[in-house]
Amino acid sequence: MTVDPGKTPLYIDGEWHASDSDDRIPVVDPTTEEAFVSVPSATEAEVHRATAAARAAQPEWERRPAKERGDLVREIADLLEDNVESLADTLVREQGKTRSVAEYEIEASADIARYMSEWDRRIEGDVVPGSEPRQSINLLRKPYGVVAGIIPWNFPVSVFVRKLAPAIVTGNTTVIKPSELTPVTTLELMDLIHKEVNLPSGVLNIVPGGGAVGAGLVSDDEVDYVTMTGNVDTGKAIMRNAADDLTRVSLELGGKAPAIVAADADIETAVENIVASRTINAGQVCTCVERIYVHEDVREEFEERFTEAMRAVEIGDPRDDPDMGPQVSANELEKTNNAIRHAVEQGATVAAGGAGVDEAPAETGFWIQPTVLTDVDQDMDVIHEEVFGPVAPVVEVASVDQAVEFANDSRYGLSSYVFTESYRDAMRIAEDLEFGETFINGSGGAQQGHHIGWNESGIGGEDGKYGAMKYTQIKSVYHNFD
Ligand code: NAD
Repeated sequence: MTVDPGKTPLYIDGEWHASDSDDRIPVVDPTTEEAFVSVPSATEAEVHRATAAARAAQPEWERRPAKERGDLVREIADLLEDNVESLADTLVREQGKTRSVAEYEIEASADIARYMSEWDRRIEGDVVPGSEPRQSINLLRKPYGVVAGIIPWNFPVSVFVRKLAPAIVTGNTTVIKPSELTPVTTLELMDLIHKEVNLPSGVLNIVPGGGAVGAGLVSDDEVDYVTMTGNVDTGKAIMRNAADDLTRVSLELGGKAPAIVAADADIETAVENIVASRTINAGQVCTCVERIYVHEDVREEFEERFTEAMRAVEIGDPRDDPDMGPQVSANELEKTNNAIRHAVEQGATVAAGGAGVDEAPAETGFWIQPTVLTDVDQDMDVIHEEVFGPVAPVVEVASVDQAVEFANDSRYGLSSYVFTESYRDAMRIAEDLEFGETFINGSGGAQQGHHIGWNESGIGGEDGKYGAMKYTQIKSVYHNFD
């Protein structure tokens, strides 16, 4: 059977199934504001069927040689590479990403799957001498069992693969819940995997739905580990829910990334990187620069060049691949516009853009314009609350030390950026920033790095060695041979 997202949205134990639910969530094209399909939400019983299937499949999956598990994940990587165009079509339609960013997301997902597959023969433990005569201790890495993956709408494919690939390579089985705003690309990818990759039944299950379905998954007895990406409040709710039976959690949450532009920065590099970072995916990325601290000596020059570059960002139908498409939903658009209005009430000046759009590319669509706010103080809410849209407040600072102090004055601690030509300042700032990742004179992470939120930006991290091994727990085996 082939998936029909409106009719057979459940993937359980190797088959597509209809749902008993009357609760349907419309999936809206952010350019037309119209639903193109409405997807039933899984019921509690259906969620449980999925977790039970994952539980039943897990022991045998774990016993398979890791290389065989890796081979299947490499097949998923090939499949992604072979289907960039068709998956990108759906991704643009349901999320509003520009064509090239959508293609990049699918290509990046293939890279994630390939990179993570290579941990198959690197699930290493330790052997240490014991404390008794003729005793040796093996520290082994074992999977947790059943992993629940809860996915946000802003990267429905790459975050799905980012959770799936390391979880199954290390011997876990999975139940994935896509975001209610963007389930269709995930279901299409699942359908390709179903047809082309010989994954054993039960290793990967999918249950669509909203927060209630996610909460049901977290509290389900069969789930041993929850890996979620989303906002801080949702992460806290999940952690509370998981606490009841001490289900392990890994939470990749929101950010409020600062960019520090020092007096000696290469302004062109800073402007280029910050504009790209703030406008990619209409500013709906957890690593986006969300506040800019500029040294007073270069504040005027930076503001002028930055404002001009933000004004030049072309907005349009994401299918035509402009610089920026719409926001994902009416709700997200309203939140961004409200943040701009509130900043202005608190004294900010709009140097570019602003709430609403001057010239919308079409009559319908959740359009927003790249917005630069100047005359911004550290006390304003726009400096402290996550704004998931292309809004860039600029704050003048007297020194890099003050910039670091302001940057660290946040409940978030995900990404941070520094632009300076001084080796000494770059090293000192990077050491002092209380963030899980710092980019010096550039932006964009790599698979072999580690993407991790400090403070309220999360618990646990993704990518690299630590992102792969977090899906394992350590078991000590004592060998006595006296
Ligand atoms: P969200 O928290 O609203 O939703 C994320 C997922 O959690 C969705 O699948 C949703 O249905 C589910 N959910 C909602 N309530 C739940 C509950 N009580 N129990 C279990 N699941 C529940 O986030 P979003 O709006 O989809 O995504 C945007 C947020 O994600 C932003 O804050 C962004 O910064 C963050 N994000 C973080 C990273 C990272 O790597 N740190 C990456 C991408 C996005």
